[in-house]
Amino acid sequence: MSSTHVFDMIVVGGGPAGYTAALYAARAGLDTLVLEKLSAGGQMALTEEIDNYPGYEDGIDGFTLAEKMQRQAERFGARTEYAQVERMDLTAEPKVLETSEGPFAARTVVLATGGGPRELGLAGEKALVGRGVAYCAACDGMRYKGRTVVVVGGGNSAAADALLLSRIAEKVILVHRRDQLRATKVYHAPLMQAENVEFRWNSTVTELLPEGKLTGVRLKDVHTGAESILPCDGLFISVGRKPATELVRGQLELDAGGYVAAGETTETSLPGVYAAGDVRTKPLRQVVTAVADGAMAVHMAEEYLAGGAPAARSPAGT
Ligand SMILES: Cc1cc2nc3c(=O)[nH]c(=O)nc-3n(C[C@H](O)[C@H](O)[C@H](O)COP(=O)(O)OP(=O)(O)OC[C@H]3O[C@@H](n4cnc5c(N)ncnc54)[C@H](O)[C@@H]3O)c2cc1C
Repeated sequence: MSSTHVFDMIVVGGGPAGYTAALYAARAGLDTLVLEKLSAGGQMALTEEIDNYPGYEDGIDGFTLAEKMQRQAERFGARTEYAQVERMDLTAEPKVLETSEGPFAARTVVLATGGGPRELGLAGEKALVGRGVAYCAACDGMRYKGRTVVVVGGGNSAAADALLLSRIAEKVILVHRRDQLRATKVYHAPLMQAENVEFRWNSTVTELLPEGKLTGVRLKDVHTGAESILPCDGLFISVGRKPATELVRGQLELDAGGYVAAGETTETSLPGVYAAGDVRTKPLRQVVTAVADGAMAVHMAEEYLAGGAPAARSPAGT
């Protein structure tokens, strides 16, 4: 692909939002490129079983769904370049994207870079990933079959992770800095009833204890300051996610959480630039909401490319 070629649309990120945008764009006749730094599917591809994406009544693993989404977009002519976007000039016309594989240009950009896990920021944390420290129970839980694991956090993802791990590990200890979960009520009863789940309330993890791999964690009581050692084989860190918005910091308006400030139309603070999926402000980050954003972004981009005129709408809305 020539670096002087100007695409109608470049989609940054090949997760469910990105490949849905690519599908809608290619199907609308737009010259479309997806730039993906790793492999198709994003967070979805790490998900063992997706049971809440309509149309798959028996569930589907995220990797397979990712392959299907990519193939569907490519069937209509969307192309994928495996490249990491390193810098963007979104105010230029055309917009310029500098990547690990060279520069690309486009008239519109859909930012679909999703997000990643929030770290605790403890010494040795990065080095212990895969050697006791994990961020994804669905991905790494089976490694701890019959072992003792600690889950840190009190929100929905921590509760869901603890519940999933309770079916795999021998013992799960949930560490939370407050005296009750923030997670929705649906998680409370099953967690309290699980015989192998214990709770350490009002506590934080202050230190990782390694001997080649993780052997335990140091806890601190947030009220008394008392410290204790908790031996464990695994630590699942479920303290939220951070949006992948470093690329656009200073160019696009972000919300207080660092997500791109964009509503249901996915329009950002810059014309011709759209934010789809987990990367934008929204109350529910799921595959089904990510794909909806991908479709909406293309609809708005078509209007932009047509010079502000509403995009053609078929009576069936297809
Ligand atoms: C463990 C886990 C389980 C989940 N289970 C479910 C579930 O059961 N049901 C459900 O609906 N949702 C589930 N989710 C949430 C769902 O996976 C996400 O909401 C969805 O994947 C968001 O899609 P996205 O396209 O916005 O972003 P992502 O899936 O995060 O994809 C973003 C993509 O952008 C790429 N990218 C980022 N930066 C760059 C760059 N600079 N250059 C190039 N490429 C870049 C990334 O490599 C990635 O492929 C789960 C998430 C996790 C982590």
